[in-house]
Amino acid sequence: MPTADHLLLMAEPGCCAGCVPANRLAVVEVFADQPLKLGIGQLRLTGTWRVSSDPDGWRYQLHGAEVKRGLSRRALMAASPLFCLPAIPAMAQADGTAVDIHSHAGNLIPMSFGRGSFAAVAEPMRQGGVSAICLAVVSDSPIIKLTDGRLRPSRDPRPGELYDHTMRSFEKLHALAGAQGMPLLKTSADLRGARSGTPSIIVSSEGADFLEGRIERLNEAYQRWALRHLQLTHYRPNELGDIQTEPSVHGGLTAFGVEVIRRCNQMGIVVDVAHGTYELVKKAASVTTKPLVLSHTSLTDRPVAWTRRILPDHARAIAATGGVIGIWPVTAYFPNVVAYADGFARMVDVAGIDHVGLGTDLLGLVGASALVNYNDLPQLAAALRSKFSPEETAKLLGGNYRRVFQASLG
Ligand SMILES: [Zn+2]
Ligand SMILES: [Zn+2]
Repeated sequence: MPTADHLLLMAEPGCCAGCVPANRLAVVEVFADQPLKLGIGQLRLTGTWRVSSDPDGWRYQLHGAEVKRGLSRRALMAASPLFCLPAIPAMAQADGTAVDIHSHAGNLIPMSFGRGSFAAVAEPMRQGGVSAICLAVVSDSPIIKLTDGRLRPSRDPRPGELYDHTMRSFEKLHALAGAQGMPLLKTSADLRGARSGTPSIIVSSEGADFLEGRIERLNEAYQRWALRHLQLTHYRPNELGDIQTEPSVHGGLTAFGVEVIRRCNQMGIVVDVAHGTYELVKKAASVTTKPLVLSHTSLTDRPVAWTRRILPDHARAIAATGGVIGIWPVTAYFPNVVAYADGFARMVDVAGIDHVGLGTDLLGLVGASALVNYNDLPQLAAALRSKFSPEETAKLLGGNYRRVFQASLG
């Protein structure tokens, strides 16, 4: 009796081993840990269902497949075969190219305070087809507290406090990368070559508070910690500019903020204006020579007070620099992955297909997420594919950020 551990289930019996259906939706690709005996008649399988994001592969997959027991002989004889089971070598899986442009995966935030232990990052990325993540330390977290239902600065930092905290956090990030065998991406070529088989990290900081107004520290972060993506502000109006969740104190971007953007442009560090006010973004767009990223937000036309969402003009200001806006999977806005995909589509309507990306803020959200982990990414890809072509979906899930990274690093 023939056996196979990798096979295709097809709705129509194939006439020969070379007869593979052209419709990638009409096939279930089966992966078994132990070879399955392929007899004639019905075979009922159990396993883990996945929806693949690979544009060249089969959409539907069953992993860890086993024969389900308990089917009576009578049922077997009564049922006509729904699927035939030719043991066709399935197409090789292409490597995933998705990029998450804002993440705190692996428990990086508590670990920066010496609490907890690292969670798996590389394995769920491999499973979900994610090639790289912008993994962000949080520069101002020692002084941020949940107050009145939102994150706010609780006090002024002590001199050196946020610098020390951020350096410890970078150290933890490097330890996490080492422990899980994840390369740190330092050049455009590194990201061009990145695939989900070897998931990689773009070292990022949420908030440039660690600079404490000292531009030379940017060089230190670049050299020593491989910083390649810097978000100017977070939940504290800092030396660089104003934020969406506190009253304006600078009227937007400060002179130091301008200096940091110019230096990032020269050095090859992606500039991220998430959390900044619209005034900050307009000024940043006028001084930057490279595309801007706004890594995690979503579109609204009726903003509530202190919202982190953005208006259409705010989105267009990012798009006009050639940049990317990451969509944030907050369940209060997007209760599930289908609604989350709608959030992408709404932003595309305003900013264009070349200017929208994936910004999960994984393990950084105060509330629940519509995208719980990277191995759920294929579900988002499938939801996006109901609205966009394979090429457009690939842009949204990584291609657009890859372009910005290339432009920023040269
Ligand atoms: Zn944030
Ligand atoms: Zn974050």
